Amino acid sequence: MNYKNRSDSKVRAKKHLGQHFLKDMNIAQQIVDGLTGHTGYSKVLEIGPGMGVLTQYLLKKTTFSTYVIEIDTESVTYLKKHFEELTPRIIEGDFLKYNTGEIFSEPFAIIGNFPYNISSQIFFRALQIRDEIPEIVCMLQKEVAQRIASPPGNKDYGILSVLLQAFYDIDYLVSVPPGAFDPPPKVQSGVIRLRRNATANLDCNEKLFFRVVKTAFNQRRKTLRNALKPIGDFTDHPLLTKRAEQLSVSDFVILTQLAEKLINPAEINIIDGLELADDETSIS
Ligand code: SAH
Repeated sequence: MNYKNRSDSKVRAKKHLGQHFLKDMNIAQQIVDGLTGHTGYSKVLEIGPGMGVLTQYLLKKTTFSTYVIEIDTESVTYLKKHFEELTPRIIEGDFLKYNTGEIFSEPFAIIGNFPYNISSQIFFRALQIRDEIPEIVCMLQKEVAQRIASPPGNKDYGILSVLLQAFYDIDYLVSVPPGAFDPPPKVQSGVIRLRRNATANLDCNEKLFFRVVKTAFNQRRKTLRNALKPIGDFTDHPLLTKRAEQLSVSDFVILTQLAEKLINPAEINIIDGLELADDETSIS
Protein backbone atom coordinates (compact mmCIF):
# COMPACT_ATOMS: atom_id res chain seq x y z
CA MET A 1 0.00 0.00 0.00
CA ASN A 2 1.30 3.36 -0.92
CA TYR A 3 -1.29 5.78 0.24
CA LYS A 4 0.99 8.81 0.51
CA ASN A 5 1.39 8.83 -3.26
CA ARG A 6 -2.27 9.63 -3.77
CA SER A 7 -1.27 13.24 -4.34
CA ASP A 8 0.55 12.42 -7.60
CA SER A 9 -2.63 12.14 -9.63
CA LYS A 10 -5.84 12.37 -7.69
CA VAL A 11 -9.21 11.34 -9.03
CA ARG A 12 -11.08 14.32 -10.41
CA ALA A 13 -14.27 14.71 -8.32
CA LYS A 14 -17.39 14.02 -10.38
CA LYS A 15 -20.53 15.58 -9.02
CA HIS A 16 -23.00 13.24 -10.71
CA LEU A 17 -21.35 10.31 -8.90
CA GLY A 18 -21.67 12.01 -5.52
CA GLN A 19 -17.90 12.17 -5.17
CA HIS A 20 -16.84 13.98 -2.01
CA PHE A 21 -13.60 12.47 -0.85
CA LEU A 22 -13.05 12.26 2.87
CA LYS A 23 -9.82 13.89 3.92
CA ASP A 24 -10.11 13.56 7.71
CA MET A 25 -8.23 10.38 8.54
CA ASN A 26 -9.53 10.23 12.13
CA ILE A 27 -13.09 10.07 10.84
CA ALA A 28 -12.07 7.43 8.28
CA GLN A 29 -10.59 5.30 11.05
CA GLN A 30 -13.69 5.84 13.22
CA ILE A 31 -16.03 4.70 10.44
CA VAL A 32 -14.03 1.51 9.91
CA ASP A 33 -13.86 0.91 13.68
CA GLY A 34 -17.66 1.22 13.69
CA LEU A 35 -17.85 -2.35 12.37
CA THR A 36 -18.45 -4.65 15.35
CA GLY A 37 -18.35 -8.02 13.59
CA HIS A 38 -22.02 -8.54 14.54
CA THR A 39 -22.87 -12.24 13.98
CA GLY A 40 -19.32 -12.98 12.83
CA TYR A 41 -19.10 -12.29 9.08
CA SER A 42 -15.82 -12.86 7.23
CA LYS A 43 -16.30 -10.47 4.30
CA VAL A 44 -16.97 -6.76 4.04
CA LEU A 45 -18.09 -4.92 0.91
CA GLU A 46 -17.23 -1.24 0.65
CA ILE A 47 -19.55 0.72 -1.62
CA GLY A 48 -17.83 3.57 -3.46
CA PRO A 49 -14.22 3.41 -2.24
CA GLY A 50 -13.10 6.33 -4.41
CA MET A 51 -9.42 6.80 -3.66
CA GLY A 52 -9.48 4.33 -0.80
CA VAL A 53 -9.60 6.54 2.27
CA LEU A 54 -11.69 3.98 4.19
CA THR A 55 -10.21 1.05 2.30
CA GLN A 56 -6.72 1.62 3.66
CA TYR A 57 -8.02 1.03 7.21
CA LEU A 58 -10.24 -1.87 6.18
CA LEU A 59 -7.21 -3.64 4.73
CA LYS A 60 -5.52 -3.52 8.13
CA LYS A 61 -8.30 -5.58 9.72
CA THR A 62 -7.60 -9.28 10.01
CA THR A 63 -11.04 -10.61 10.98
CA PHE A 64 -12.53 -10.13 7.50
CA SER A 65 -11.46 -9.70 3.91
CA THR A 66 -12.34 -6.51 2.09
CA TYR A 67 -14.13 -6.22 -1.26
CA VAL A 68 -14.98 -2.95 -2.94
CA ILE A 69 -17.50 -1.97 -5.61
CA GLU A 70 -16.87 1.25 -7.49
CA ILE A 71 -18.71 2.63 -10.52
CA ASP A 72 -16.05 5.17 -11.52
CA THR A 73 -13.37 3.82 -13.87
CA GLU A 74 -10.90 6.52 -12.90
CA SER A 75 -11.20 5.55 -9.22
CA VAL A 76 -10.82 1.86 -10.09
CA THR A 77 -7.59 2.61 -11.98
CA TYR A 78 -6.35 4.61 -9.01
CA LEU A 79 -7.18 1.81 -6.55
CA LYS A 80 -5.43 -0.84 -8.66
CA LYS A 81 -2.33 1.30 -8.75
CA HIS A 82 -2.24 2.20 -5.06
CA PHE A 83 -3.70 -0.95 -3.47
CA GLU A 84 -2.30 -3.71 -5.60
CA GLU A 85 -3.24 -6.49 -3.18
CA LEU A 86 -6.88 -5.42 -3.43
CA THR A 87 -7.04 -5.82 -7.22
CA PRO A 88 -8.73 -9.27 -7.32
CA ARG A 89 -11.40 -7.97 -4.95
CA ILE A 90 -12.28 -4.80 -6.83
CA ILE A 91 -15.64 -4.96 -8.56
CA GLU A 92 -16.12 -2.29 -11.20
CA GLY A 93 -19.82 -1.62 -11.37
CA ASP A 94 -23.01 -0.13 -10.00
CA PHE A 95 -23.95 -1.48 -6.57
CA LEU A 96 -27.65 -0.91 -7.32
CA LYS A 97 -27.48 -3.26 -10.29
CA TYR A 98 -24.97 -5.75 -8.97
CA ASN A 99 -26.01 -9.25 -7.95
CA THR A 100 -23.96 -9.71 -4.77
CA GLY A 101 -24.70 -13.43 -4.83
CA GLU A 102 -22.06 -13.74 -7.55
CA ILE A 103 -19.28 -13.24 -5.03
CA PHE A 104 -20.82 -13.61 -1.61
CA SER A 105 -22.26 -16.98 -0.73
CA GLU A 106 -22.30 -16.11 2.97
CA PRO A 107 -23.46 -13.05 4.89
CA PHE A 108 -21.27 -9.96 4.50
CA ALA A 109 -21.16 -6.48 6.01
CA ILE A 110 -21.52 -3.24 4.04
CA ILE A 111 -19.50 -0.12 4.69
CA GLY A 112 -19.09 3.15 2.85
CA ASN A 113 -19.08 6.86 2.58
CA PHE A 114 -22.17 6.54 0.41
CA PRO A 115 -22.86 8.64 -2.67
CA TYR A 116 -25.58 10.76 -1.03
CA ASN A 117 -27.76 10.98 -4.13
CA ILE A 118 -28.45 7.23 -4.03
CA SER A 119 -28.22 6.42 -0.32
CA SER A 120 -31.93 5.57 0.04
CA GLN A 121 -31.74 3.23 -2.95
CA ILE A 122 -28.75 1.52 -1.37
CA PHE A 123 -30.85 0.87 1.73
CA PHE A 124 -33.78 -0.48 -0.26
CA ARG A 125 -31.41 -2.82 -2.05
CA ALA A 126 -29.94 -3.90 1.30
CA LEU A 127 -33.44 -4.52 2.67
CA GLN A 128 -34.17 -6.84 -0.23
CA ILE A 129 -31.22 -9.00 0.80
CA ARG A 130 -31.34 -8.25 4.51
CA ASP A 131 -30.64 -11.81 5.63
CA GLU A 132 -27.30 -11.57 3.82
CA ILE A 133 -26.38 -8.26 5.48
CA PRO A 134 -25.78 -8.52 9.23
CA GLU A 135 -24.20 -5.09 9.59
CA ILE A 136 -23.94 -1.76 7.78
CA VAL A 137 -21.74 1.19 8.76
CA CYS A 138 -22.08 4.22 6.54
CA MET A 139 -21.80 7.94 6.18
CA LEU A 140 -24.60 9.86 4.53
CA GLN A 141 -26.35 13.21 4.62
CA LYS A 142 -26.88 14.06 8.29
CA GLU A 143 -30.65 14.61 8.02
CA VAL A 144 -31.10 11.21 6.41
CA ALA A 145 -28.84 9.57 9.02
CA GLN A 146 -30.87 11.19 11.80
CA ARG A 147 -34.10 10.12 10.17
CA ILE A 148 -33.03 6.52 9.92
CA ALA A 149 -31.91 6.43 13.56
CA SER A 150 -34.86 8.40 14.92
CA PRO A 151 -37.33 6.80 17.35
CA PRO A 152 -41.12 7.24 16.88
CA GLY A 153 -42.73 10.43 18.16
CA ASN A 154 -40.14 12.63 16.50
CA LYS A 155 -40.47 14.80 13.41
CA ASP A 156 -37.42 13.10 11.90
CA TYR A 157 -39.11 9.71 12.03
CA GLY A 158 -40.05 8.64 8.50
CA ILE A 159 -40.36 5.89 5.93
CA LEU A 160 -36.77 4.71 6.07
CA SER A 161 -36.81 4.76 9.89
CA VAL A 162 -39.71 2.32 10.02
CA LEU A 163 -38.57 0.04 7.21
CA LEU A 164 -34.99 -0.22 8.47
CA GLN A 165 -35.84 -0.35 12.18
CA ALA A 166 -38.14 -3.29 11.44
CA PHE A 167 -35.05 -5.37 10.68
CA TYR A 168 -32.08 -3.47 12.12
CA ASP A 169 -30.97 -1.98 15.45
CA ILE A 170 -29.57 1.42 14.59
CA ASP A 171 -26.98 3.64 16.28
CA TYR A 172 -26.08 7.19 15.33
CA LEU A 173 -22.29 7.33 15.67
CA VAL A 174 -20.91 10.75 14.77
CA SER A 175 -21.59 13.96 12.82
CA VAL A 176 -19.09 15.16 10.23
CA PRO A 177 -18.81 18.77 8.96
CA PRO A 178 -18.44 19.64 5.24
CA GLY A 179 -14.81 20.70 5.79
CA ALA A 180 -13.81 17.06 6.32
CA PHE A 181 -14.28 16.46 2.57
CA ASP A 182 -12.70 17.49 -0.68
CA PRO A 183 -14.66 19.01 -2.30
CA PRO A 184 -16.91 19.92 0.68
CA PRO A 185 -20.57 18.93 0.24
CA LYS A 186 -23.32 21.51 0.82
CA VAL A 187 -24.76 19.45 3.67
CA GLN A 188 -23.66 18.12 7.03
CA SER A 189 -22.92 14.41 7.22
CA GLY A 190 -23.58 11.70 9.78
CA VAL A 191 -22.34 8.16 10.38
CA ILE A 192 -24.72 5.39 11.42
CA ARG A 193 -24.46 1.69 12.17
CA LEU A 194 -27.20 -0.85 11.51
CA ARG A 195 -27.15 -4.32 13.01
CA ARG A 196 -29.58 -6.99 11.91
CA ASN A 197 -32.09 -7.77 14.67
CA ALA A 198 -33.83 -11.07 15.43
CA THR A 199 -36.93 -10.37 13.30
CA ALA A 200 -36.98 -12.95 10.52
CA ASN A 201 -40.30 -11.89 9.05
CA LEU A 202 -43.01 -9.42 9.91
CA ASP A 203 -46.31 -10.78 11.12
CA CYS A 204 -48.10 -9.41 8.06
CA ASN A 205 -47.79 -9.18 4.29
CA GLU A 206 -44.48 -7.41 3.83
CA LYS A 207 -45.16 -5.73 0.50
CA LEU A 208 -48.34 -4.33 1.92
CA PHE A 209 -46.43 -3.19 5.02
CA PHE A 210 -44.09 -1.16 2.80
CA ARG A 211 -47.04 0.34 1.03
CA VAL A 212 -48.89 1.20 4.26
CA VAL A 213 -45.79 2.91 5.69
CA LYS A 214 -45.16 4.84 2.50
CA THR A 215 -48.80 5.93 2.17
CA ALA A 216 -49.00 6.92 5.84
CA PHE A 217 -45.95 9.19 5.61
CA ASN A 218 -46.96 10.68 2.27
CA GLN A 219 -49.39 12.80 4.25
CA ARG A 220 -47.73 12.73 7.60
CA ARG A 221 -49.72 15.57 9.14
CA LYS A 222 -53.06 13.86 8.61
CA THR A 223 -54.54 11.27 10.93
CA LEU A 224 -53.95 7.79 9.63
CA ARG A 225 -57.62 7.31 8.85
CA ASN A 226 -57.29 10.09 6.26
CA ALA A 227 -53.71 9.47 5.20
CA LEU A 228 -54.49 5.82 4.44
CA LYS A 229 -57.60 6.56 2.32
CA PRO A 230 -55.68 5.70 -0.90
CA ILE A 231 -55.50 2.13 0.41
CA GLY A 232 -59.12 1.96 1.53
CA ASP A 233 -61.59 2.61 4.34
CA PHE A 234 -60.24 0.89 7.41
CA THR A 235 -62.51 -0.53 10.10
CA ASP A 236 -62.34 1.44 13.34
CA HIS A 237 -59.16 1.13 15.33
CA PRO A 238 -57.57 3.48 17.91
CA LEU A 239 -54.35 3.69 15.85
CA LEU A 240 -56.24 5.42 13.04
CA THR A 241 -56.68 8.56 15.13
CA LYS A 242 -52.91 8.98 15.35
CA ARG A 243 -50.39 10.29 12.85
CA ALA A 244 -47.72 8.24 11.07
CA GLU A 245 -44.82 9.60 13.11
CA GLN A 246 -46.43 8.37 16.36
CA LEU A 247 -46.47 4.70 15.35
CA SER A 248 -43.91 2.04 16.20
CA VAL A 249 -42.94 -0.76 13.82
CA SER A 250 -45.37 -3.13 15.58
CA ASP A 251 -48.19 -0.56 15.26
CA PHE A 252 -47.57 -0.49 11.51
CA VAL A 253 -47.76 -4.29 11.49
CA ILE A 254 -51.21 -4.04 13.14
CA LEU A 255 -52.34 -1.49 10.53
CA THR A 256 -51.08 -3.75 7.77
CA GLN A 257 -53.08 -6.65 9.19
CA LEU A 258 -56.16 -4.42 8.94
CA ALA A 259 -55.20 -3.44 5.39
CA GLU A 260 -54.95 -7.11 4.43
CA LYS A 261 -58.73 -7.30 4.86
CA LEU A 262 -59.16 -4.50 2.31
CA ILE A 263 -56.76 -5.59 -0.41
CA ASN A 264 -55.99 -8.86 -2.08
CA PRO A 265 -52.26 -9.38 -1.36
CA ALA A 266 -51.82 -10.85 -4.83
CA GLU A 267 -52.55 -7.40 -6.25
CA ILE A 268 -49.79 -5.66 -4.34
CA ASN A 269 -46.92 -4.65 -6.50
CA ILE A 270 -43.56 -4.67 -4.72
CA ILE A 271 -42.36 -1.71 -6.80
CA ASP A 272 -44.88 0.40 -4.98
CA GLY A 273 -43.08 -0.04 -1.72
CA LEU A 274 -39.49 -0.26 -2.82
CA GLU A 275 -38.97 2.31 -5.49
CA LEU A 276 -38.65 5.58 -3.69
CA ALA A 277 -36.71 8.49 -5.07
CA ASP A 278 -34.08 9.82 -2.69
CA ASP A 279 -35.79 13.19 -2.52
CA GLU A 280 -38.90 11.48 -1.13
CA THR A 281 -37.01 10.17 1.85
CA SER A 282 -34.81 13.13 2.66
CA ILE A 283 -35.98 15.98 4.84
CA SER A 284 -39.06 17.78 3.54
N1 SAH B 1 -15.12 6.37 0.02
C1 SAH B 1 -14.52 7.52 -0.63
C2 SAH B 1 -15.41 8.12 -1.73
C3 SAH B 1 -16.77 8.58 -1.29
S1 SAH B 1 -17.64 9.46 -2.54
C4 SAH B 1 -14.16 8.56 0.39
O1 SAH B 1 -14.69 8.51 1.51
O2 SAH B 1 -13.36 9.44 0.10
C5 SAH B 1 -18.77 8.21 -3.15
C6 SAH B 1 -18.15 7.17 -4.04
O3 SAH B 1 -19.17 6.30 -4.51
C7 SAH B 1 -17.46 7.73 -5.28
O4 SAH B 1 -16.19 7.14 -5.40
C8 SAH B 1 -18.37 7.28 -6.44
O5 SAH B 1 -17.69 7.09 -7.65
C9 SAH B 1 -18.95 6.02 -5.90
N2 SAH B 1 -20.27 5.63 -6.48
C10 SAH B 1 -21.25 6.46 -6.88
N3 SAH B 1 -22.31 5.75 -7.32
C11 SAH B 1 -22.00 4.43 -7.17
C12 SAH B 1 -22.68 3.20 -7.47
N4 SAH B 1 -23.93 3.20 -7.96
N5 SAH B 1 -22.05 2.03 -7.21
C13 SAH B 1 -20.78 2.03 -6.70
N6 SAH B 1 -20.09 3.16 -6.41
C14 SAH B 1 -20.68 4.34 -6.64
